[in-house]
Amino acid sequence: MALIKGEGAWVWDADGNKYLDFVAGLAVNSLGHCHPEVVAAIREQAGKLMHVSNLYWIEPQVRLAKLLVENSALDKVFFCNSGAEANEGAIKLARKYGKKYMGADKYEIITMEQSFHGRTLAAITATAQPKYQKDLDPLPPGFKYVPFNDFSALVEAISPNTCAIMLEPVQGEGGVNVAGYEYMQKVKQLCAEKHLLLIFDEVQCGLARTGKLFAYEHYGVEPDMMTLAKAIAGSFPMGALLAKEKVAGCFQPGDHASTFGGNPLASAAGYAAVSILADKGFLAETAAKGQYFSDKLSQLHQKYSFITDVRGKGLILGLGITVEGKPIVDACLARGLLINCVGSNVLRFIPPLIITEQDIDNAVQILDEVMSGIS
Ligand SMILES: *Cc1c(COP(=O)(O)O)cnc(C)c1O
Repeated sequence: MALIKGEGAWVWDADGNKYLDFVAGLAVNSLGHCHPEVVAAIREQAGKLMHVSNLYWIEPQVRLAKLLVENSALDKVFFCNSGAEANEGAIKLARKYGKKYMGADKYEIITMEQSFHGRTLAAITATAQPKYQKDLDPLPPGFKYVPFNDFSALVEAISPNTCAIMLEPVQGEGGVNVAGYEYMQKVKQLCAEKHLLLIFDEVQCGLARTGKLFAYEHYGVEPDMMTLAKAIAGSFPMGALLAKEKVAGCFQPGDHASTFGGNPLASAAGYAAVSILADKGFLAETAAKGQYFSDKLSQLHQKYSFITDVRGKGLILGLGITVEGKPIVDACLARGLLINCVGSNVLRFIPPLIITEQDIDNAVQILDEVMSGIS
């Protein structure tokens, strides 16, 4: 299938078929396809200045950085082009910080099983899922894995070399797994006690997806670093690493850079997108729609015994199932609904945040039809 056109929550293929898009470019198209304000910002900036390198100040980049800093608990921003790059930046900065403030032997980063941090060599090593690391060895050293939401395993894993703990508050690719509230409080306290950096990968769960601008807000736990990408520039490729002042200071001019990162075009798109995503009314609506969708999914859970649970927060939701997910995904596609499956047994729903309740009803009805055919 080749998709050639998109508008709002809908996409069209080359044969003229129309689909309701609950994949949203893998949580990228949070504002739907071709949001008019993002399109206008790109059109305007494309006619003005697209790229100049980071040898010079880039006005739209400064505006976007300011918007992100004013709306988060972090102080400084580094822009790049993807989530993996943002995480590479976080890993490098954690090591720099470790060396500067903690000693030469502080380099190890503890990450979580079922995590996903991207496909570059360091990011895929941080990604504690063997299936993604197969035949890539030797992997860079300095990473250690623990089960997600298991505080005692985390405590045990800390070694004299540990400098940081990195996790997704809501794991996306790993199966829509939500960090527990108590767990996050304890992780934060542990980091404070042991002087470890806390890094949140909010590439997928950040930027309004959970109904708050950043997922960490659900916990009242501030990270020392946070990575963003996916939805940040309204479908245009962009990533960002945010850090607290003291941590950010471990990168001096020349230490880290990206040729395209935060260029005028991406930054203009980013400013338009984040301005909408950060709007209080937009966030409240997203949270309400998430609750509405989650309630509907709970009804399916009641109805079908092969559904084990409803999981997620806001509009990143999943259904655990005991049957193969792929046939369900395919049957939904045949009925005009795009969804995907993470692992083989979790159906994931990451619709555009501009989705209407009526389109949520449409999607649930298609799921219901498809599921009624499964024994
Ligand atoms: C998608 C994703 C990444 C990787 O982003 P890319 O832009 O594909 O490099 C990293 N972390 C999380 C949580 C993601 O969902």
